[in-house]
Amino acid sequence: MKKRIVVLGATGSIGESTMRVARALPDHLEIVGLSGKNNAIALQELAREFPSAALCTRDEASSDALQAEFPGRFITHGEAGLERLAALPEADLVLIAIVGTAGLKPALSALNAGKDIAVASKEILVMAGEEVTLTAHRMHRRVLPVDSEHNAIFQCLENRDPSTVKRLILTCSGGPFRRASAVELASVTPDQALLHPTWSMGRKITIDSATLFNKGLEMIEAKWLFGIPMDKIDIVIHPQSIVHSMVEFVDGSIIAQLSTTDMALPIQFALTYPERVAGPCAPLDLATLGRLDFEAPRTDCFPAISLARRAGTAGGTLPAVLNAANEAAVEAFLSDRISFPDIWKKVAEAMEGVPFIGHPTLNQLVAADSAARDIVEGK
Ligand code: NAD
Ligand code: MG
Repeated sequence: MKKRIVVLGATGSIGESTMRVARALPDHLEIVGLSGKNNAIALQELAREFPSAALCTRDEASSDALQAEFPGRFITHGEAGLERLAALPEADLVLIAIVGTAGLKPALSALNAGKDIAVASKEILVMAGEEVTLTAHRMHRRVLPVDSEHNAIFQCLENRDPSTVKRLILTCSGGPFRRASAVELASVTPDQALLHPTWSMGRKITIDSATLFNKGLEMIEAKWLFGIPMDKIDIVIHPQSIVHSMVEFVDGSIIAQLSTTDMALPIQFALTYPERVAGPCAPLDLATLGRLDFEAPRTDCFPAISLARRAGTAGGTLPAVLNAANEAAVEAFLSDRISFPDIWKKVAEAMEGVPFIGHPTLNQLVAADSAARDIVEGK
């Protein structure tokens, strides 16, 4: 039976890879809903390609324009529209691929409407991992990981007793500045930081990969997805991005997942789960690749990992503060308002400045998120 999929953030980098998977697997997947905020033309083209998909646009004007071209189609807009699309009666699974935390309410809406969710937007798990996982548990729904590291761990863990896990080992490419000195890091420009050595991705996650906040966010994401404490989550630098992550078991065995550097594979695994089918990804040729390298991360020049470990261990509002401060600081860096090392500094300042709440409600998390952004923006 075909799985019916809603894709939130269909016009972005993950959205694009998802469409590649959907085109390759027409017997397994049917696209029933699409949202896009920043690229109206791309959404219009997807609307033509997937004639039965409901749509959500950024605002009323863009929604009216699409409705004129596609009369009779369900077309909605804005934040409320995303929540409606996520709860679409005909959908089985909702893929959340919106950058940042704007996907949180739609994710909860999907779960509460009885849908499984596949999560690319790690930020929603960092901000409100407890709320998302508790809602999924209450509704007996799955939260399937799309992030390549977490998808790898999910594959390594499948059907194994969680009490036999010694630690999770997240791999990290190291980003474009793996060997840079503190002096060199001080003068990094947005254009330099946007050149990732192995992955082609959206702007925000590309900067996160350069600061290593991406890996910091992923440690907290792993804590919620797999119910593993922060002290059992480690990072190893692996510049080729072929081993997507590993699980070490109590007997000393390490199980890893390897594949080419292509997000289509983890997306496909999440969308077709529990089936495993042939898809659009190129096979991995290990002999041509020749070698796989590993090294320890440099925590001296890259404080993101220790800041994230502190936030993930303390819990409460601290991960939401770290995440929001990072989002605001990345924006400020990309628009030349702060330097590259200021991203770490601003996040640390927000973590000191926003009052800590140990067991926050969703509203308190939202308030901590905006207080952190205010500190970064100097309000
Ligand atoms: P992107 O910037 O390329 O695309 C983002 C998508 O979300 C676009 O469709 C955009 O229109 C939409 N969007 C942006 N802001 C929105 C808002 N406020 N409301 C509604 N829609 C909005 O980003 P991306 O690289 O595809 O990343 C998406 C998410 O997936 C991020 O959380 C990222 O961390 C995660 N992720 C991405 C990759 C990757 O390879 N790109 C890998 C792992 C995880
Ligand atoms: Mg990742």
